[in-house]
Amino acid sequence: MSEKVTKIGVLTSGGDSPGMNAAIRAVVRTGLYHKLEVYGIMRGYNGMIEDDIFKMESRSVANIIQRGGTILKTARSKDFYNEDGRKRAFDILQKRGINGLVVIGGDGSFTGAYKLSREFGIPCVGIPGTIDKDLYGTDFTIGFDTAVNTAVESIDKIRDTADSHDRLFIVEVMGRHAGYIALHSGIATGAENILMPEINTTLDDMVASLSEQEKRKKLVNLVVVAEGYQPDPNNPDLRGAAEVARIVQEKLKGLETRLTILGHIQRGGPPSCMDRFIASRMGYHAVECLLEGRHNVMVGILNNNMHYTPLEIAIREKQRIGEDWMNIVKILAS
Ligand code: ATP
Repeated sequence: MSEKVTKIGVLTSGGDSPGMNAAIRAVVRTGLYHKLEVYGIMRGYNGMIEDDIFKMESRSVANIIQRGGTILKTARSKDFYNEDGRKRAFDILQKRGINGLVVIGGDGSFTGAYKLSREFGIPCVGIPGTIDKDLYGTDFTIGFDTAVNTAVESIDKIRDTADSHDRLFIVEVMGRHAGYIALHSGIATGAENILMPEINTTLDDMVASLSEQEKRKKLVNLVVVAEGYQPDPNNPDLRGAAEVARIVQEKLKGLETRLTILGHIQRGGPPSCMDRFIASRMGYHAVECLLEGRHNVMVGILNNNMHYTPLEIAIREKQRIGEDWMNIVKILAS
């Protein structure tokens, strides 16, 4: 589609992440600066299918940069998985004359955008908005910094208590498929061990090192676990910190363990400066991409430069955690 982009829609989709509002604000204000009409699409792709769409002005995004969540709401839309649902969405966009889209979300949301662009020729640009940070083609995703800082603050508090007692503290952080929150928060809080879905760590090694630490009377024993970690690869239903605690208790009967699951506090709260900053920068460049004809890409930041990854690749590839990180964890906690 080589038609000039004149009316753009912006939506947030998938899980919410702190900083999405800053990205919406940047998209709206950059679009208006370029004399585009800008439309807010509510509740992800659901709002597109149901025509829950409104025209946005500069004041529509006043006083939101500091707020967590997303003013456009977000959703997971079942109908959008089917071509029929996407056709209905396209008909609504056509009816309104919207001829460019900015989609803020994770790889699932980008898959939806990619299909919409391929099937109906609507130019789309993705902005990585997910606390998980595992998207390819960017060093940072919007929300990760806030989430990881919330996790660190909470683990520091738990560590103070751990310091006063001779116990093992096991803390679960978010990350069903990605261990970045666990890796960063674990290193930043001096965890003895970090368990992530991507790294095949057996609990036997951990139990052996814990019993050694018991002998050395190490003061604080802290293990950070991503919710998607599987202690037993043959039993993928067993996941997360509760399983780890159960197995450790079974193997080290004398050791008192305490389990904390941080949960949704990691998604909420005001976005950090870093998340507001990258969201503003990415939002601005997403609109520039639509205007310059750089379509169907995800905007990212690599080595502090803007980087544009075709949606097709952003969906297929993942940012991976290398095994070498485990060496750092081991040496620094020794
Ligand atoms: P998060 O990282 O927070 O999970 P996400 O964008 O990956 O974010 P998903 O739930 O995977 O979250 O996707 C969000 C929405 O994108 C889905 O509800 C659906 O509407 C659309 N979507 C996801 N995958 C596809 C697909 N294969 N085809 C069409 N649409 C899709």
